[in-house]
Amino acid sequence: MGRQRSGKYPYIDMKIAECFEILQLNRKENGSWAGSEPVGTPEIYLDSHSPVDGNLMGSLSKTSRADYDRIVEKAEAAFRIWRLTPAPKRGEFVRQLGEELRNKKQALGTLVSYEMGKSLQEGLGEVQEMIDICDFATGLSRQLYGLTMHSERPDHRMYEQWHPLGITGVISAFNFPVAVWSWNSALAWVCGNSVIWKPSEKTPLCGIAVQKIVAALLKKNDLPEGLSCLVNGDAEVGRWLAEDTRIPLISATGSTRMGRSVGATVAGRFGKSILELGGNNAIIITPSANLKQVLPAIVFGAVGTAGQRCTSTRRLIIHESVYEQVKSILAQAYRQIRIGDPLDQNNHMGPLVDAQAVLNYTHALQEIERQGGKFLVPGGILEGEAYKTGFYVKPCIVEANPQMDVVREETFAPILYLLSYRELEEAIRIQNEVPQGLSSAIMTESMREAERFLAADGSDCGIANVNIGTSGAEIGGAFGGEKETGGGRESGSDSWKAYMRRQTTTISYSNKLTLAQGIKFDF
Ligand code: NAD
Repeated sequence: MGRQRSGKYPYIDMKIAECFEILQLNRKENGSWAGSEPVGTPEIYLDSHSPVDGNLMGSLSKTSRADYDRIVEKAEAAFRIWRLTPAPKRGEFVRQLGEELRNKKQALGTLVSYEMGKSLQEGLGEVQEMIDICDFATGLSRQLYGLTMHSERPDHRMYEQWHPLGITGVISAFNFPVAVWSWNSALAWVCGNSVIWKPSEKTPLCGIAVQKIVAALLKKNDLPEGLSCLVNGDAEVGRWLAEDTRIPLISATGSTRMGRSVGATVAGRFGKSILELGGNNAIIITPSANLKQVLPAIVFGAVGTAGQRCTSTRRLIIHESVYEQVKSILAQAYRQIRIGDPLDQNNHMGPLVDAQAVLNYTHALQEIERQGGKFLVPGGILEGEAYKTGFYVKPCIVEANPQMDVVREETFAPILYLLSYRELEEAIRIQNEVPQGLSSAIMTESMREAERFLAADGSDCGIANVNIGTSGAEIGGAFGGEKETGGGRESGSDSWKAYMRRQTTTISYSNKLTLAQGIKFDF
């Protein structure tokens, strides 16, 4: 891409090399960490190539089973100390992490963009989410409230308290290589847990960079190293976490296929899990929708992160009276989308993450043809020097019907399906009749339509928006979805409760024992 190369990092250009310096990344990294200490001897090296230009960014070792076990022991030891540290003190550590992330936002956001392929704006936005959740968790550290209840027995007091749970295992997906970790870790830490993170094998350097930031902070605060641990590898390492009875909570983000396996494994050992899985998100466009407002929401939702967000807009359910109009403004808007190097802020869309993602995309295009979909804007792989990784694809629009298998599946790529409806009830039924249940939206100026969409028989998704798109969410709300999206909730509201165990306590200050439900037991 015609960039100037750096001496120390011969494979990447100067701008990226500067970020590597700030983040203290080396060309070879140990992939197993407990706090500031790399664990074990690096043996098998994995390479991380950028989807942007194909350059080798660095290599790191896969975590061995022996190193994994040592890390779990360190995380257990750290937990025993941390659970007795007052929660506001735990919050102070998370506050400092937020400050560090502010200082390193540009560098980390650039790394996210270069290793994952999302636009720089979105990479920076992801780091901003990390900062926001640190702020949120800091306040939360003084608000881990339990309820008090009135006892049915005289001279008794009843209340509940929340205790730390233990190690939180975090398995994360490639498309949010750092933010998802922070949603979990910031909360887990203020709740008194230690954390072991297995990032996606597609974005491992993002994991190493974040670990180094946290590790330096742990050292500065003289905190136990096992509070923040990192293990690297593919699904096999994820399975070690899922099977491990020493880890009471697994928070897993990724495909429904992964969640089906992790969910069953964790449930089989009576562990707890937070599952954040695939989506198949729709926007309903009603006759009264303000189309000027709708257009950017649709285009950002469908092509942002090259359609690789769990909340990406995949289906538009359009009222038949505005169908042709929406079709023509979308076709026009898609002609203006600039695809290329995501670090160049003139581009709207970068590459898909890897060759497998491109294969999934082309397979979906073939299925669309086979199942009778009609391309309004055709797809395809982009060729030429600017697209030399072969991972750059065209965003496409397809006129389809809701019953087509390909429409009911999540293809993690910029493919947008247009569906039409007559009555709102029909639109809501179409919106709900896919297996996934993450994000949904309605565009309307009618209060009645909006409320119908939000009613108990309206959208069945974890997120239901009015007059904004499906993509992106604020950290203040609980994030997650229903059905095959897994049912988990992360981030804001009272999601913190999943990271703690609830204890109900009844204290008697009476001189005689009174049993509940009026039971008498005299002897
Ligand atoms: P993926 O399922 O291939 O991998 C996700 C993570 O799970 C990786 O770290 C991987 O190594 C690990 N893994 C895979 N199989 C495993 C197994 N059997 N046991 C334990 N660990 C296993 O997903 P991906 O391609 O990285 O990410 C894309 C998917 O993630 C999409 O379906 C997207 O919708 C979903 N996603 C969901 C959310 C959400 O909050 N709902 C957020 C981001 C991504």
